[in-house]
Amino acid sequence: MKLGNKFDRYIAVIFFVTIVTVILTSYFTLKDVINSHNKQVQSAVTPLFSLVTSEILRPLNVANFMAKNQFIIDYAEQAEIEKGYLVSYLEKIAKSYNMVAFIALEKHDVMLNSTGKETSLDGENVEWFHRLKNLPGEQFTDIGNAEAPHLYFDNKIHNMDGDFIGFTGVALELSYFARKFQEYNDRFGFELYFVDSNNIITLSSNKMIKSQSHHRTDLITRLSDLPWYQSLIKNNAADNNLTSEVMYTTDEGLLISQMPIQELNWRMFIVSPPASEQSAYWKIFIGRFMLFFIIVIVFYMALLTIINYLKSRLIKHAETDHLTQLPNRSHVHWRFDEIVKNNENLCLVLADIDNFKNINDTYGHLVGDDVLRIISEQLSQTLRKIDVVGRWGGEEFVMVLPDTSAEQALIIVERIRKNIAAISFPISTTSGSFTTTISFGICELPIKSKAIEDYIKGADKALYQAKHNGRNQSVIFN
Ligand code: GH3
Ligand code: MG
Ligand code: MG
Repeated sequence: MKLGNKFDRYIAVIFFVTIVTVILTSYFTLKDVINSHNKQVQSAVTPLFSLVTSEILRPLNVANFMAKNQFIIDYAEQAEIEKGYLVSYLEKIAKSYNMVAFIALEKHDVMLNSTGKETSLDGENVEWFHRLKNLPGEQFTDIGNAEAPHLYFDNKIHNMDGDFIGFTGVALELSYFARKFQEYNDRFGFELYFVDSNNIITLSSNKMIKSQSHHRTDLITRLSDLPWYQSLIKNNAADNNLTSEVMYTTDEGLLISQMPIQELNWRMFIVSPPASEQSAYWKIFIGRFMLFFIIVIVFYMALLTIINYLKSRLIKHAETDHLTQLPNRSHVHWRFDEIVKNNENLCLVLADIDNFKNINDTYGHLVGDDVLRIISEQLSQTLRKIDVVGRWGGEEFVMVLPDTSAEQALIIVERIRKNIAAISFPISTTSGSFTTTISFGICELPIKSKAIEDYIKGADKALYQAKHNGRNQSVIFN
């Protein structure tokens, strides 16, 4: 039995080790998968930079090209200008590039744009002219026009002598960028943010965030208001003087790519959310693991049941006497120990067939075997379920009767003895029959701490007495 427990423990350990190994392997595999997924996202980000920046740089280049147009500079320097001529030039630019084009000339105190609108530079909406004129630098981006916000790309114009004479440039509706960025967002699942040198968000794909405008200072959103940027600052990964593309993964699993747009002194951020996908991966992992776990447990239980069944069959086979199908000595020993553990009192009986040698000698061994079988049946039939009857050896049997006194045992074995004496055993070779008898020795000991050998010794003495007294009787040991 001890060996059996040990075996069960081995099986449990093997299963446990298997489960742990599978979990650990899956865990690390999943981590690898997520890492390689992150790498894939990163490599997808790089071409996106050039794609997105081209949207910003295209109007900037058009504005620059206009500001460098020598014909326009010369024409603007004249004392008198034909406004219609300039407007038709702006119209052509606007048509070719699908943007609004404008020119503002200080000398002529006029701002013209491709829609034909003409404004004096004193006008309320031309405040930017005076503001940007005094700023160092040549190119500016500015968000203006509160009703339908436009992103203006303003370029200073200088004459031959290098003196400032005005601005020219183009404007695009902010909704144009919003649409474009939404497209990228839908395609790649990334958020885009454009940030100026003061860390103020100028453009973003996030509709919740309003872009900067000097008309709408109350709506300014600073980069530092965004939680992921806080995480960047905390980890010293934020760099205002970025010169090339940098990637960073936040603690929350967000993948942040930063890239400078030097032409505008802006920075662009691409925020990709692998976190949600990671949690999906983990969900799948945990789901699969639970399934695996249940299967393993079921398998384990099934295996245990099979093993226990095989074990009990094996034990039964090893502990059963082949001829009589009664338990053998080894089994009786084990059952005796169990009974001693769980019962206050027990009675042991030894039974021995009388003059059995004569039966063998007279009718042959096979008839002798039949007698052994028939008597075995008789013994086990008469007893209770909790009683144990076994073949002790040769033509001797043993009975262990829990919670039974010697007197009670005597009544039981007397009944058996009489039954056996009444059996007429057939002789297979002839049609005749014969009878035989059996003797019993009964032993009850006062305390249960006695070993089986003590009971056997007592029962054997009583049995000897029974034989001595003339056989076919039961004797109690005292
Ligand atoms: P007593 O009344 O004193 O018990 O006399 P007995 O002849 O029964 O006792 P003894 O010990 O002299 O003989 C037992 C015989 O039982 C001897 C042996 O050959 C026989 N025997 C033992 N095992 C088997 C068996 O499995 N089959 C058969 N047929 N005979 C067996
Ligand atoms: Mg004998
Ligand atoms: Mg005998």
